Amino acid sequence: RAALVYCHMWALGMAVGHGVRCLSQLAELPELHQMMRQTCRDYAQKELAPIAAQLDKDHKFPTKQVQELGAMGVMAVEVPESLGGAGMDYLAYCLAVEELSRGCASTRVIVSVNNSLYLGPILKFGTEEQKKQWITPFTTGEKVGCFALSEPGNGSDAGVASTLAQQEGDKWVLNGTKAWITNCWDASATVVFATTDKSLKHKGISAFLVPMPHPGLSLGKKEDKLGIRASSTANIILEDCRIPLGNMLGERGMGFKIAMQTLDSGRLGIAAQALGIAQAALDCAADYAHKRTAFGAPIGKLQAIQFKLADMALAIESARLLTWRAAMLRDAKKPFTKEAAMAKLGASEAATFVSHQAIQVLGGMGYVTDMPAERHYRDARITEI
Ligand SMILES: Cc1cc2nc3c(=O)[nH]c(=O)nc-3n(C[C@H](O)[C@H](O)[C@H](O)COP(=O)(O)OP(=O)(O)OC[C@H]3O[C@@H](n4cnc5c(N)ncnc54)[C@H](O)[C@@H]3O)c2cc1C
Repeated sequence: RAALVYCHMWALGMAVGHGVRCLSQLAELPELHQMMRQTCRDYAQKELAPIAAQLDKDHKFPTKQVQELGAMGVMAVEVPESLGGAGMDYLAYCLAVEELSRGCASTRVIVSVNNSLYLGPILKFGTEEQKKQWITPFTTGEKVGCFALSEPGNGSDAGVASTLAQQEGDKWVLNGTKAWITNCWDASATVVFATTDKSLKHKGISAFLVPMPHPGLSLGKKEDKLGIRASSTANIILEDCRIPLGNMLGERGMGFKIAMQTLDSGRLGIAAQALGIAQAALDCAADYAHKRTAFGAPIGKLQAIQFKLADMALAIESARLLTWRAAMLRDAKKPFTKEAAMAKLGASEAATFVSHQAIQVLGGMGYVTDMPAERHYRDARITEI
């Protein structure tokens, strides 16, 4: 009862405080959001799902598809129209990302990093001049950006940036290595985090905008990942990489704050990606259970299989609500750090659970052996839940 009262008050607060959002929108999306969802769903089914397996196998960046997504506004969902973006909100972004991920998780990573990790911090902390230079060309899908925070050895501890930025005359000189940088082989710019004053620890980290390619910046080999391989992941190596003083993003020492706020939003993109993967696995399993006959009837008539499908649908829908709630809080300019982390955890756990259950439903004789992977994706029945 207490939880219900809290939910009601929360919904009331959202509706009164901002006049646009209330809990009912978790049940029925606004029309514009439904359109965004449907457009991305159609595109993913028609254009991405048939090539997803091959892109992944070949490590191939989907250049044409990224440009098409740029034309659809999906490469810069939250960027205002005046800067070339779609001018929509984060709920719309999460819907788009989930649907793209349902067709091709690699393409979603490329889209997501450009939106939330590259454009996001520039939109929030950039000057008007920086926004024009570093955002607008990255809204069309012609160029993508990346985000270079992690370092070899420092891993999760983002407050220890060994990469140094030293001022020499009218330039910043960057030295260090950034690790696991998504999109970097295909990127035209990156946000780099580097220490400008070591004695201040995480308060001595600043953020910089670096064009790519650029003298003093080189790339490591592409990581041979287990999945999402159409999106490149590699080291960025900075050796006396000189950039103008004006390329600092935000103020000196603000880098850690920029990184942490950016990652809050990034978590929502990952949650939405996990939802798309989970939904694709459920679609595939439900379709197989419907078509595969054993002991004289489709296996979907067996309660053991029905229970699996029900548990999968429940996990997905729970994680989807967490994701939408966190996105709506962000759109309402309310704190959403905890909710985004819960959404990312809940959705990633759902994706691994649902995928595992899907493997059980498909057994050893499933599509995987008697159908090409492309068809397995394409034919998957879209299950509305
Ligand atoms: C595919 C891929 C793409 C990536 N893309 C980017 C990118 O674009 N840009 C970027 O900057 N980085 C990127 N990263 C890096 C990523 O975001 C993480 O920072 C990095 O993977 C974590 O570092 P690590 O592997 O050294 O893990 P570790 O830091 O060694 O962590 C190992 C384990 O210990 C746990 N752990 C560590 N510290 C704590 C703690 N204080 N409390 C509790 N548990 C803890 C971790 O959760 C984890 O389970 C990417 C990584 C991958 C795998």
